[in-house]
Amino acid sequence: MAQKLILPINKTRITAGYKNVNYRKEFGYNHYGVDYTDQQKSDKTVWGSGDGVITHVGWSNSSGNVICAVYKNCQLTNGQVKDLTIRYYHLEKIYVKAGDKITKDTRLGLYGNTGASTGDHLHIEIDTDTKYPNYTPQLGKNSGVLKAGTDSTINPTLALYVKATAPDYQSVKNSGYNTVASSDLQFKNY
Ligand SMILES: [Zn+2]
Repeated sequence: MAQKLILPINKTRITAGYKNVNYRKEFGYNHYGVDYTDQQKSDKTVWGSGDGVITHVGWSNSSGNVICAVYKNCQLTNGQVKDLTIRYYHLEKIYVKAGDKITKDTRLGLYGNTGASTGDHLHIEIDTDTKYPNYTPQLGKNSGVLKAGTDSTINPTLALYVKATAPDYQSVKNSGYNTVASSDLQFKNY
């Protein structure tokens, strides 16, 4: 049976959206993921999104402390079922290692400001390529644990659900920054 993945931060605040036009103007490159923080900036816990396995943990000068995880049989909001990779960047702390099996109740780490980052946040990318989980279109050249790859990412709103029920009590808020579009907020309920 397919699984529904949930948000990695329970009280999510979105600070930059997927392939956002204003982000591209500001930074000069495409944003292949989304940036999240905690709504109160008080709980930096990054949770597993469902049943998966950690494939890579390591350092990248561009992306700081990095985790890559593969989740199988994920129910997308468009009706498709796909295996997915999620890459997590800029972590302050990492609590898992390669090979670990995880669930939505696994603490993966704390989000932070490591690598080329200008403030505490979590950057995640959701990729339909699960054969090469550490290859990202975000990088023009290899950097530590991450390798430069082609784009097979999808909008996180296609794959992540908001689990408003116990024990997760998830919700989503807009930061109001011009790097967030209304499409970045269109999550379905779990
Ligand atoms: Zn980002």
